[in-house]
Amino acid sequence: MDVPLLDLRRQQRPIDAELRAAIDRVLESGRFILGPEVEALEARVAALSGTAHGVGVSSGTDALLVALMAAGVGPGDEVVVPAFSFFATAGVVVRLGATPVLVDIDPATFCLDAEAAAAALGGRTRAVIPVHLYGRCADLDPVLDAAAGRDILVLEDAAQAIGARDAAGRPAGSIGGAGAFSFYPTKNLGGIGDGGMVVTSDDALADSMRLLRVHGDRGGYRHVEVGGNFRLDALQAAVLGAELPHLAEWTAARREHAARYRSLFRAAGIAAGGGPGSLASAGEEGRGQGVGADRVVLPEDVPGHVYHQFVIRAPRRDQLAERLASEGVGTAVYYPVPFHLQPCFDELGYREGDFPHAEEAAREVLALPIHPGLTGEEQAYVVERIAAFYRE
Ligand SMILES: *Cc1c(COP(=O)(O)O)cnc(C)c1O
Repeated sequence: MDVPLLDLRRQQRPIDAELRAAIDRVLESGRFILGPEVEALEARVAALSGTAHGVGVSSGTDALLVALMAAGVGPGDEVVVPAFSFFATAGVVVRLGATPVLVDIDPATFCLDAEAAAAALGGRTRAVIPVHLYGRCADLDPVLDAAAGRDILVLEDAAQAIGARDAAGRPAGSIGGAGAFSFYPTKNLGGIGDGGMVVTSDDALADSMRLLRVHGDRGGYRHVEVGGNFRLDALQAAVLGAELPHLAEWTAARREHAARYRSLFRAAGIAAGGGPGSLASAGEEGRGQGVGADRVVLPEDVPGHVYHQFVIRAPRRDQLAERLASEGVGTAVYYPVPFHLQPCFDELGYREGDFPHAEEAAREVLALPIHPGLTGEEQAYVVERIAAFYRE
C-alpha cells in the first residue's frame, strides 16, 4: 500500500467545479492583484479569526515580515522567538536587522515555553513571535501579561493554525496583537501558489501594513514609507475563498484521523501515554535500552487543535522513517535543526545544549499522514507498519 504524507488532489478534487469557477471568474475580471477578491477574503478570514482586519499578503513569511515592519522593528531591537519552528519565524527578524532572542519549547506542546518567553522580555524587546506549531495554540497568557502596557507586539505565527483555538476558546490570530497565516498549498487552507494574511484588531497596525505591502505608496506614487511588494493576488484569493466553506469539514476530518491514530496506537500497545513529556520524561522507559525504546509518544489531545501535522516522538526516528518510506508510508521531520544550530545564525552565539527541549524534539519528531482525504485503512497500515518496526 502507498500512503503519501500529502495528497492535495484527493482533497481538492471533490470541489474542482468550485475552484475552476473561481479561476474563470478572476480570468474574466481582468483584475489580478489585490482588488475585490482579496478584500472579500480579508473580511472572511478576519471574521473567522475574530479580528477586525485582514491584510492579504504574498506569503506567510511576508505576513510575519510586514507585521514586524509595521511595529517598527529594526536594528537594535530584540524579538523573542522559540528555538524550534519553521525557518521564517526567526529569518524575518534577522532580515530587519533585529536580533532574535531564542527561548526553549515546552516539551509537551512543542510550542514556546511561555514562562521562559515572559522572562526573556527586556528593555530592547519590541516583539514576541509565539508559534502555534502543528496546529496547536501556544499558551500565551504569561507572555501577554508580561508584554501588557509595554511597546511589545505579540505576533502569533499562526501559519499552521488557521481555525485553531486556545484553551480559553480564543481563535488563533486574535490572541496577541496580530496573527500571521500562510496559504502555502500544503497548509490547512492552501492556495494554488503562495499567499498569506495578517489579522489584527489594531486599526493603526492594519493601516500601516496595507501601506507597507504596496511600497508605502499612499496613492499617486507618493511614498511615505519604504515598504515592499507584499501583495496577494486575486487568483489565490478567489481559490482560497472557494475552499473556505470547506475548511471546517477538513479540520473535522483531521481531528477524526487524530482520534483514530490514538486508538490504533493504543490497540497496538506501542503508545507511551500521550500526556505531557517527551520520550525521556515518559518515565524510565523513555529512551535507550529500556522498555520504552519501543514506544512512541502521541501528541496531547486538546480541543481546538487543528492537526496541521500529527507529530509523534519516535525512538530510532530516522531508522523508522527510512523503513516506512521503503514500505510506501510518507513521513516528514518538522524540523530537524533548531534555530540555534542553523549555520546562518552562527553569529547569534548560541551553542549546542542551550535549548535541550528543542534539540530533543529535532531528534525525535516524526509527522505522519493526516491530510483530510486519508482513509481509515491507510491509517491502520501506517500504525501496523510502525508497530512491526518496534516489535522486531
Ligand atoms: C509555512 C510557515 C511559515 C511561512 O509561510 P510561507 O507562506 O511558506 O512563507 C511561517 N511559519 C510557519 C510556522 C510555517 O509553518
